[in-house]
Amino acid sequence: MYYILKGHNFIDDIVSILMLFYPNDKYTQTEDIKDGITLLSGLEDNRAYAELYIDGELKAEHSEAAESSDRREIKRVLGLCSALALKRVRNIPLAWGILTGVRPAKLVSEAWSEGLGTDEIRRIFTRKYLVSPEKLELMIRVAEQEKNIVENGIGKISIYIGIPFCPTRCLYCSFTSYPLERYRNRVDEYIDALIKEMSFVSGYVSKNEVESLYIGGGTPTSLNEKQLERLLCAVEKYLKIPAEFTAEAGRPDTVTPEKLRILKEHNVSRISINPQTLNDDTLRLIGREHTSAQFFEAFELARKAGHEHINTDIILGLPGEGEKEVTRTMQGLEKLSPESITVHTLAVKRASRLKETLESYDMADYSLMERLIGISREYTEKMGMLPYYMYRQKNMAGNFENVGWCKEKCQCIYNVAIMEEKQTVIALGAGGSTKIVDTDTNRIERIFNVKSVDDYITRIDEMLERKKALEGML
Ligand code: SF4
Repeated sequence: MYYILKGHNFIDDIVSILMLFYPNDKYTQTEDIKDGITLLSGLEDNRAYAELYIDGELKAEHSEAAESSDRREIKRVLGLCSALALKRVRNIPLAWGILTGVRPAKLVSEAWSEGLGTDEIRRIFTRKYLVSPEKLELMIRVAEQEKNIVENGIGKISIYIGIPFCPTRCLYCSFTSYPLERYRNRVDEYIDALIKEMSFVSGYVSKNEVESLYIGGGTPTSLNEKQLERLLCAVEKYLKIPAEFTAEAGRPDTVTPEKLRILKEHNVSRISINPQTLNDDTLRLIGREHTSAQFFEAFELARKAGHEHINTDIILGLPGEGEKEVTRTMQGLEKLSPESITVHTLAVKRASRLKETLESYDMADYSLMERLIGISREYTEKMGMLPYYMYRQKNMAGNFENVGWCKEKCQCIYNVAIMEEKQTVIALGAGGSTKIVDTDTNRIERIFNVKSVDDYITRIDEMLERKKALEGML
C-alpha cells in the first residue's frame, strides 16, 4: 500500500498507523495516488488532514486542528486523522487507539509529573488517543505500581550483563542469541572479554549505589558450571551485588542442580525459568527442544535450591494455540505459584525465523488474542498478582502488550528501570545498550556495544573506549 505526505515528514508515525490497520503489508511512499490503497496525510497551518483512496477514488477523510504547534501534538493529530480515515474503511478494533509507543505507562507517569490528575489523564487518552477503557485502566494500574519504585531509584544505577548463547534458536527469537552448538568454543573468550569490561566499569560503579543487577541474554544458564562460577566470581569482584540480583535461567533444559546452587551461593535473589507454553506440541513447533516436564522439574529444583523468587515468562498467540492451550499453561503455573509471571503477546519480528515462514502457521486473530489475554489475567489475578510493568512492541499480534504480573512486594526493579528510563543502566556484553539518564534535564545518552559475539571479543578494547563516555556522567 502507498502513502503520501504533504506539509510534513513524519514517516514513522504515519507508517505505524498504517501498520495498525494493514499489518505485515509493504508501505511505499509516493507522490501520486496509485491503484490499490493510498493514504494521503497532510498538514496545513497546524491543521492535519487525511484522505484515503482506493483505486483512485476518495473513500474516507478526516481533518482536525492541532491544539498547539508542539511537535508531539502535531504528530498526534496527524496520527489521529489517519487512523479515523482508515477506520471508516477498515473497521478493526484498536484497543490501544493510536498509541504506538513502547512505554504506555510512562505516559501516565509523565502526565502526573506535569501536574495532571488521573481523571484528566483518562479524558485525554480516551478523547485524543482513542485508548479503550480497559487499556487505560491497565496503564494507570501499572504506573501506580511503578511510581514508588521510580522515586526510590532516582540517583541510583542498574547493571545489565548479556550472555548471548542459547541451546537452539526459538522460532520467534529476534534477540542477540547464538546457538551453543556453533559457538561453544568461543564462550570462554566471551567471558574473558566480559570480565575485561566489568573491570573497566568497576571504577564508575564503585562511585554509585547499585540498585539492581540483571544477567540476561540469551540464556545465562547455557554456560557450564565452571563458566557460570567464573562469571559470578568476577561480578562479585568488580561490581556491587545489590539486594535485587536477577539471573535468567530461561531454557529449562539448561538448568542443573549445580547451576542453581552456584546462583544461590553468589546471592542471586531472583531467577527466571521460562516455559513460554506448557504444551509440548507447541514447544516442539517453536524450536525450544525441551518439554513441559523439564520445566516443572527445573522449577522444583530451583525451589529445592532455595530460590524464593522465581519468575516465569509465557507467550500468548503462539502458532496453533487457543483458549484450551493457554488455560492449560495458566493452570500449570497456578500449581507452581511463581512470584511473578511475564505475559507476552507474540511479536513477529523481522529478524525471526517466524517472519520468514509466517504463512505456514495458524496465527491468533485479534478477538482470540483478546480472549487469551483475558484468560491470563483471570489466572494472574487469582494468584494475587498485580500488573507492575508493561511494554509494547511493534508488529505484535493484534498490537497488544506485554505485562509483568507479580505478587505483592515482588516487583522487579530492573524491569521498571528499563521502562521508565529514570535511572542509568550500564550494559555489558554483546548487544549491550548503556543508557545514561540525566533526571534534571530528562536527557538520555546511549552507548552501544557491537551485537556480534565475534566482534565483541575481537573489538573489546573499542567497547571500553566507548564506555569512557561514562566519565563525568556518573
Ligand atoms: S531462549 Fe530467548 S534468547 Fe534464546 S533463542 Fe529463545 S527467544 Fe531467543
